[in-house]
Amino acid sequence: MKFGKNRFTKLELSTDGIVRLVALILLIGAGVIGHAFADQPKKPIKVLMVGGGASHDFDTWYKGRDVEILQEKNFAEVTYTDNTDAVLALLGDIDVLYLTNNQPFKDPKTREAILKFAESGKGLVLGHAALWYNWADWPDYNLKLVSGGSRGHDKYGPFEVTVTDKKHPVMKGIPAKFTLKDELYYYKVDPNGAGIQVLATAKSDKPESYPSVFVVNHPQAKIVGIALGHDGESHNLEAYEKMLTNAIRWVAK
Ligand SMILES: [Zn+2]
Repeated sequence: MKFGKNRFTKLELSTDGIVRLVALILLIGAGVIGHAFADQPKKPIKVLMVGGGASHDFDTWYKGRDVEILQEKNFAEVTYTDNTDAVLALLGDIDVLYLTNNQPFKDPKTREAILKFAESGKGLVLGHAALWYNWADWPDYNLKLVSGGSRGHDKYGPFEVTVTDKKHPVMKGIPAKFTLKDELYYYKVDPNGAGIQVLATAKSDKPESYPSVFVVNHPQAKIVGIALGHDGESHNLEAYEKMLTNAIRWVAK
């Protein structure tokens, strides 16, 4: 009888202990999860990324790497397309348009819709090839959205990027200077455009430096240009990852 009672008491304590332990684990777990999500936006930013065209491996570095960077921790929900005719139908439901393509937008309605998207105050990020003068038959793209563009670049190789506006949110966490291998774009401002605010410059061993990361002073839209991005030497760089994420976050607001 005594033996039995002892057994019962021991079992009861043990069960209580397990209950307490499970409750503690759940409490700690909830705290950890709560803390992890505290830094994240409530809803992922809806991004439409457009790629495709000449001279670049869009599938590896944009559809692959940049989508991976942006979708990490549910930061963004990215739709990637290299079908420029599909863009018109996709524009209505997004926060940010991220253009990286140098293939043309052939449909006049799509061109108009992209300009209207900007005029409605939405956000755009323009990466590397999208900062070129790609389309002679659509001058409004460079004039209104890029406020200029590039018609040349240094031969692919190492150069230095210097942050010139450390306080801008797009530059948060970016080292003051870093070097990488890329194509140094000769971006030039069109004096007839809205102008730009330079956030970082790029310089090789040649005397002139060029805007490398900048904000286009569009009257309604938030637009960030990132001239870097030819291949994995930039896309795999921590500074690039941060700048891209910062830029998408900033233009989405
Ligand atoms: Zn390139």
